[in-house]
Amino acid sequence: MQVVETITEMKRLRRQLPEPFGFVPTMGYLHKGHISLVRYARKENASVVASIFVNPTQFGPSEDFEDYPRDTKRDLAMLEEAKTDVVFIPPATEMYPERFSSWVEVGKLTERLEGNARPTHFRGVTTICTKLFNIVEPTKAYFGQKDAQQALVIKKMVADLNMNLEIVMCPTVREPDGLAMSSRHIYLSKEQRQAAVSLYEAIQLAEELWSEGERDAEHLRQVVTSHIQQQPLAEIEYVSVADTETLEELKTATSSGLLSLVVRFGKTRLLDNTILK
Ligand code: AMP
Repeated sequence: MQVVETITEMKRLRRQLPEPFGFVPTMGYLHKGHISLVRYARKENASVVASIFVNPTQFGPSEDFEDYPRDTKRDLAMLEEAKTDVVFIPPATEMYPERFSSWVEVGKLTERLEGNARPTHFRGVTTICTKLFNIVEPTKAYFGQKDAQQALVIKKMVADLNMNLEIVMCPTVREPDGLAMSSRHIYLSKEQRQAAVSLYEAIQLAEELWSEGERDAEHLRQVVTSHIQQQPLAEIEYVSVADTETLEELKTATSSGLLSLVVRFGKTRLLDNTILK
């Protein structure tokens, strides 16, 4: 496995490695969710590149950029074990040199859900992904369903701007009790961690109702909300049942609608979702 820090070196290596080329962008502090993306990429490609970059432009001014957990040594060991060929791990000055001033904006999709709560977030995500796609030139890039809106926004950007790659959305990997894995769990106290399982429990309740024929989206939102409200440590930010393409809220839940939620435990925001099937 080769570890490279500069864009020049990454581009040089890119030309030497066999196609097709799978790419997994991450912010590091890896867990089994990230590694599952590497494994999907490994199965479908001759070469696999992962990136580790805590992207400052996708954090708001009062968010956790400075405190975001980092453990490069452990990350590299995990990526090596998953048979990654190249890890691109640039310093911030490499990606955002002085006087950097160009941005990629995707519009409506980025104003809803996460975009509503974090107004500058997706502009940072789409800009860094565009830069990474231009540098790495992957055949396919792999994203997790855990951040479903992010995957949808990137897919839309790739389609709208005729970018030359395919976006693959991979299933959410969960802890044994069902909590969707996240690098941010490290912030949770023991009590918050225990209470956090209510997100998955609530999703399962909604899935059960859905499979019994419930189509009233507001009822599904209410069931999820009232289950989580039983946890005094949980503060619900939003519960949404939305169209998977437009992310507009639905009155009647439809097949492949996206049920998503964000719940805060102290300062930690936890996301989860399911696609109604
Ligand atoms: P991050 O390092 O949080 O930016 O995540 C990098 C990639 O890993 C994104 O595509 C995430 O959606 C994906 N990811 C994060 N957590 C999980 C999980 N529990 N299961 C599957 N994919 C995940």
